[in-house]
Amino acid sequence: MALVNENYLKLPGSYLFAEIGRRVAKFKNDNPDADIIRLGIGDVTRALPPAIIESLHKAVDEMADLQTFKGYGPEQGYDFLIQKVIEYDYTPRGIKLDNDEVFISDGSKCDTGNIQEIFGLDNMIAVTDPVYPVYVDTNVMAGRAGVLGSDGKFDKITYIPCTAENKFIPELPKNKVDIIYLCFPNNPTGMTIPKCELKKWVDYAKANKAIILYDGAYEAYIQESDIPHSIYEIEGAKEVAIEFRSFSKNAGFTGTRCAYTVVPKEVMAYTKDGEAIQLNKLWNRRQTTKFNGVPYIIQKGAAAVYTEEGQKQIKALVDYYMTNAAIIREGIKSIGLEVFGGVNAPYIWLKTPNGMDSWSFFDKLLTEANIVGTPGVGFGPSGQGYFRLTAFGSKENTEKAIERFKTRLKI
Ligand SMILES: *Cc1c(COP(=O)(O)O)cnc(C)c1O
Repeated sequence: MALVNENYLKLPGSYLFAEIGRRVAKFKNDNPDADIIRLGIGDVTRALPPAIIESLHKAVDEMADLQTFKGYGPEQGYDFLIQKVIEYDYTPRGIKLDNDEVFISDGSKCDTGNIQEIFGLDNMIAVTDPVYPVYVDTNVMAGRAGVLGSDGKFDKITYIPCTAENKFIPELPKNKVDIIYLCFPNNPTGMTIPKCELKKWVDYAKANKAIILYDGAYEAYIQESDIPHSIYEIEGAKEVAIEFRSFSKNAGFTGTRCAYTVVPKEVMAYTKDGEAIQLNKLWNRRQTTKFNGVPYIIQKGAAAVYTEEGQKQIKALVDYYMTNAAIIREGIKSIGLEVFGGVNAPYIWLKTPNGMDSWSFFDKLLTEANIVGTPGVGFGPSGQGYFRLTAFGSKENTEKAIERFKTRLKI
């Protein structure tokens, strides 16, 4: 008799987007003429920049030629891309990395999901709340999370609230934790963490021999100074942090798939006997066993990000979305709602008016303004009473949506 991994049965259904779909479908059915604008999408909508397209085309042609054809590549990625990553994303910030500390992959979702495999099952996991669900669900699958309580929390995971009360900056936990997931700029709150606050986490990790898993998928959206672009800008972080970066949100690679993970050789975790083990070695072993590398063509496309043209073009992409973010932010502020994020991230996190719960506000926005967003509570219990809008739509739709906020929403 084949037995299932019963941990999977502890996962709640993927309720959030299914429920949004259900409510939107019902509304459309009842109001067939309504022109619905979606500001809930967490996916880019602009086409790939021309420098990347050109590089992809060239790489396709190389695959057609016996002299330049490529079969299996290095599981860790090609050096031509790794070197550019280091040269552009780390060296200018005073961070030194060796090529074998950067692992090219097909996405940060996969990497942030898979990384937990190299850790023991007895670690206490901490996540910020609200949270990108991948961090929690992959630990549930592995059997680290315990059971889901009626409060929406797994009993063996430490949830660190990030709310307006603490300016969305996570406070150190009172109980001891071993593995900490941090994502800044944050999805869903769109908020960031200043260096002095991030340093507290690095110091905590050093003092407790804990590991920080730092998701920097939105790094390119940082506009303000004093916001760290990499956790390795913090002294000592190379001993305790793994960093994830993706080409999805800066270069429009959500459907093209390329990302990278940095595992410095100094980062150690321990056996039960206290022996220090390099996580770089374990991740390398994991990747070489279970992963066969990102397609050459795609890595060539990603490498074009690191050309003069590519840099200009991805900046224009980010600027396009950030213009939308400013339109949303200012528009919503002007009608008297409390709004967060949208300055260093493509997400706007608003406080629902009059203490309304997230789903009630969803319904109100849909029926009165025909706008679809994402209820904050879908990202964790501390998201209750908040609502996420994204800047990933077209400028036209974003402007139209904000006009409706101003004219149709009854607050
Ligand atoms: C979009 C996103 C990513 C990127 O995922 P990919 O698999 O690289 O597309 C990673 N983390 C967060 C929090 C995200 O929102």
